[in-house]
Amino acid sequence: MERQERFENMPKWEKMDKDMLANIFKKLDMVDVIMGASRVCITWFLASHNKTIWNTIKLNDFDSIVLDNSSNPHLQDNNNARKHLYNLKEILIEINKFSRAAPVDFFFNVNTNVLVEDLEIISNGFPNIRKLALRIQKIQNLNSFASSFSKWKNLQTLIITKITKDGDLNHELKAIAENCKNLTTIKVAYALDQELANIIVGKLPNLKSLSFRSTSVSVEAVKSLIIGLHNLKSLNLSHCVFTKRCNNGMMLATVGISPEDKSTILSIQKLETFKLCCSECTICGDVWNHPLNPQYHSNIGYKQWETDEMKEFEF
Ligand SMILES: [Zn+2]
Repeated sequence: MERQERFENMPKWEKMDKDMLANIFKKLDMVDVIMGASRVCITWFLASHNKTIWNTIKLNDFDSIVLDNSSNPHLQDNNNARKHLYNLKEILIEINKFSRAAPVDFFFNVNTNVLVEDLEIISNGFPNIRKLALRIQKIQNLNSFASSFSKWKNLQTLIITKITKDGDLNHELKAIAENCKNLTTIKVAYALDQELANIIVGKLPNLKSLSFRSTSVSVEAVKSLIIGLHNLKSLNLSHCVFTKRCNNGMMLATVGISPEDKSTILSIQKLETFKLCCSECTICGDVWNHPLNPQYHSNIGYKQWETDEMKEFEF
């Protein structure tokens, strides 16, 4: 009897303060809020709509279940066979309902292939995005891709990669630059050649921070960027392989920059921050362990995607 009274006097979960519930929900994985907590009772459902939960959307955790990468099905459910896989589109539509235009930061998992249809959902639902991390594949409809980016007038920071066997990132980057005039901070997880450097200089003259971390970069293209981008303050070339054309036309590639190229770059640069690796760099050893397939595909790819020597690219 006494025990029953004590039980009845205990505060009930559904009577918990909504702000307190929202603070707890912020610690949960997005998918657990959408598919779990919000479905418990009406109080929890209402608490799930608190805008502060949705300011940052991070679909970056392998446990967050949101992977529908048909080209790499083995990446979907690596270590957790018991978890249910939700379709990305389904999750985006649900986030849209709960967040009501609240998101300002949106980070995709590097293994999640984001399609043009997915971009349409988030650009229509979340026009206030300022920071975005995105992996794309070959874009079939460039107009629709550009139209999604045209909604993001406040986009300032972009982390982007493209997984493709052919083609380049040039058309997509051009479309983004033409539509997002406030973009000042970019991390491109893609090889830097002269053509890409020309697009960046021509279309993104206001760029302040740039990172080509852990990729292959042409020394000449780096020089073009530093000379051409008058507002550039920070450049991260950590863990890069540097390519250079020799007098006989042959292309040379080396891990780490040569002292001669380093001093040429330093002599033209007016940067506040310029990051290169030291010779004993352990990350370089990991990144370039598989020289034929080095970028963001190895076991450490996931970790490399969300880290950077420059704080503005971390998430
Ligand atoms: Zn390094």
